[in-house]
Order: sequence, then C-alpha cells, then structure tokens
Amino acid sequence: MYGYGGYRYMFDWTYLLVLAGLALSLIASANVNGTFKKYSRVRAACGLTGAMAAQKVLQLSGITDVRIEHISGNLTDHYDPRTKVLRLSDSTYASSSIAAVCVAAHECGHAVQHQKGYGPLVLRSTLVPAANFGSTLAWPVFFAGLIFSMRPLLTAGIILFSLAVLFQLVTLPVEFNASSRALKILENGHVLGDSELSIGKKVLGAAAMTYVASLAASILQLLRLVILARGRDRD
Ligand SMILES: [Zn+2]
Repeated sequence: MYGYGGYRYMFDWTYLLVLAGLALSLIASANVNGTFKKYSRVRAACGLTGAMAAQKVLQLSGITDVRIEHISGNLTDHYDPRTKVLRLSDSTYASSSIAAVCVAAHECGHAVQHQKGYGPLVLRSTLVPAANFGSTLAWPVFFAGLIFSMRPLLTAGIILFSLAVLFQLVTLPVEFNASSRALKILENGHVLGDSELSIGKKVLGAAAMTYVASLAASILQLLRLVILARGRDRD
C-alpha cells in the first residue's frame, strides 16, 4: 500500500516548504524569547507589577468585571472571554519589568476588544470550531485522496486546511490591535514614559511576529497541498 507512491509523497521536495515554515516559526519564537528576557530585566519606573498594571489598565478602560489570575508557565498569558478572566504567567504576574507591564497591558487590550465587540475578535471566535475541525481533518482527508487517487478528497483537504489558515489570518488584526490599544492606554494613563513605550513596542512587536510566522508557515503548507494535488492531476 505504501509502495512507490507513499515514498514519493513523503520525501517530495515540497517538504522543504514545511521546513521553511518551521524555520520561520523557530526564528520568531527565539526572537520573542530573547526580547522578552532582555527587557524583563529592565524595571518600569512606575513600579507596578504586571498584575497591578493590568488592574490599572482595566480601570483606565472602564472595565470592572474582569478578574486577574496567576497562571504557571512562561509567556502563557491570555485573556479568556468566556469567563472574563485575565491570566498572567510567572514572568508577568509579579514582575515589575517593562516587558511584564506591556504583556499584561496587551492582554487587557483583548479584554477591551471583547467589551467593545471588536469585529475581528468576534469573527475569530466564530471561526474557532471550523478552524479546529479543518486542522484536525485536513491531512487525513488529503492523504486518503493521495492514496486512493480521489481528486474530490484532495480538494476537500485543501478547503479544510484553508479554514485553519483563515483563522490565523483573522488572528493578526486581533493581536496587532490589542498591542496598539495597550500602548495607547499606557501612554495616556502615564503608566510608562516615552523611552519605556518604545521598549514596549519592541516587546509586543516581537510577540506579534510569532503570529505572522505561524501564518506564513501555514500558507507554505497550504501551497504544498496545492502543489501535491496538481502533481497528482498530471499523473
Ligand atoms: Zn494577544
């Protein structure tokens, strides 16, 4: 069953597209870790910890129904819209570094988006089930299409994978917008000074690049599926 055909597809040159995507993701992730580490050693002049900064940013935004909690791990910070809980990680919650204040404020940016019903965030939440469904089934369906030489299955696999790519595409404006809201609130509320804000831009910019890299990696994988399907058409 896995004769020449299986061998050929598993070691096809298009696998290089997957490797290129992986390399991009690794570079972006190393960059955000390095940037965060560097600026987690620089104390913010306001003296607020990540948790205190989050409280302040929420208050400045007029949000009173979001709870702030501690979560273990490194850079596991997130805002949960279902429970309205903002979770800050070990490196953010009790740290009074510029990096911690900015990451905490970024998560508050998501809480503000949620409260205001920011369009891309609403769309992103709507896409979650479709994206999960698509990313789970895309490869099995596509692979079955290759094995049984069934073009409709190949097309279905490509469409399923596109749903996951679409989700990542919609994630970009959500992430960039949360950061720009955060920096604006930190500036207007005089939480950070000018030089601290430019450090904040670097930290949040590096974090945003990980989402850009993931999207690029997924687009490369999608391209690979299209190339493999076309190759099968010619056979
Ligand atoms: Zn975010």
